[in-house]
Amino acid sequence: MTRIVPAELPNGASAWRSKAREIAVREVVPLAAAIDREDRVPERVVSALREGGLFGLGIPRAWDGSGGDARSIAAVLEELARGSAAVAVLLAVHLSVCASPILEWGTDAQREKYLRPLARGGGIGAFGLTEPNAGSDAASLATRYAREASGFRLRGTKMFTSNGVSAGAILVFATRDPALGHGGISAFIVPPGTPGFSVSQRLDKLGLRGSETTELVLENVPVPPDALLGPEGAGLKVALSALAGGRIGIASCALGVAEAAFEEMLRSVRANDEPWKRTLVARAFTDLASARALVATAAERRDAGAPSATEASAAKLVASRAAVSIASSGIDVAGAEGVRSHAVAARLLRDARVFPIVEGTTEIQELILGRHLLDPARFPNI
Ligand SMILES: Cc1cc2nc3c(=O)[nH]c(=O)nc-3n(C[C@H](O)[C@H](O)[C@H](O)COP(=O)(O)OP(=O)(O)OC[C@H]3O[C@@H](n4cnc5c(N)ncnc54)[C@H](O)[C@@H]3O)c2cc1C
Repeated sequence: MTRIVPAELPNGASAWRSKAREIAVREVVPLAAAIDREDRVPERVVSALREGGLFGLGIPRAWDGSGGDARSIAAVLEELARGSAAVAVLLAVHLSVCASPILEWGTDAQREKYLRPLARGGGIGAFGLTEPNAGSDAASLATRYAREASGFRLRGTKMFTSNGVSAGAILVFATRDPALGHGGISAFIVPPGTPGFSVSQRLDKLGLRGSETTELVLENVPVPPDALLGPEGAGLKVALSALAGGRIGIASCALGVAEAAFEEMLRSVRANDEPWKRTLVARAFTDLASARALVATAAERRDAGAPSATEASAAKLVASRAAVSIASSGIDVAGAEGVRSHAVAARLLRDARVFPIVEGTTEIQELILGRHLLDPARFPNI
């Protein structure tokens, strides 16, 4: 079937897209059902990502990365997500909300120590912001840190941390004192082997099965002074800037699922064509095209160094909504076969349903968009 992919400018993104597509077709698609059923991404898939240099995407070669820009990352995540949403999210979290903030906020010594191994795929990156009582309102987090002579000590519980079991490095956000508000929060790079650190639960989920969603406990975990990422007190800035980039990644993953759902739907309608089904196909196509355009715009702006947080929020909102809507219409056209638990259409809907929640819910994207769009600087002539 001809792919519904855009004609791309001849930049590096096309080469990365081809490489990711080749890995997805060879390694991911054949295992997608097993990844969902067994709730595990096999090591051979992780090895294929590593050997393809995908863990180093967006990281300069000077730090053992593979180079590549935001458009390359978006293309790779979309291709992987067409095969398995869990595999794409594993890479998205590693690249966008762990490696990228270390590159952006770290010192050269921190890049040497923490980024270089991540870029080689020697460890998978994770991001621990959410807590049992702090989700959308991340600033209300309760994990505490204290300064001591040899560095810092961290104490608290992180919830829904992706890649938590296999992580080689986790960004942990903690406050010196909740009374200090935003300014009390700092970011730390924590290697999971540190004494006092444990994965207390691996959470069973509706969708994105295979992605390790975990609860982490930090019981007075000691970390050295160089674990502090960015200035002390700038942790929320680190988190929010990571999430703004991360949303392009999550939007790309949702786009890949939307595309897989569209293709599945076309197959189903071709096998049993009826006029009402064509209406659903038409709607799905326009939803897919809108999502694709927004993801491309956000990634292009980021690559051009232009402000891209508004476009990233819009892309995340629209792509995750498109994935849910197209996957749901896919069930409509498939009928009863579509809701059998291991049907591809059912898996796509379960996976799609998680995207409106991760890295900021749809309602939070609407709040962000409202704030950005009503800023007088945004449309100065109106
Ligand atoms: C599969 C998965 C993987 C995840 N991975 C990570 C990870 O790696 N690292 C990490 O830190 N977190 C991770 N998360 C957590 C995710 O970012 C949070 O679930 C998300 O931010 C929402 O927080 P919450 O679940 O506590 O919902 P809540 O904040 O409790 O929100 C519940 C509902 O209320 C709405 N709501 C909340 N506040 C407002 C408001 N002000 N206005 C309007 N509506 C509002 C929300 O939109 C939502 O519908 C993951 C979550 C999932 C499901």
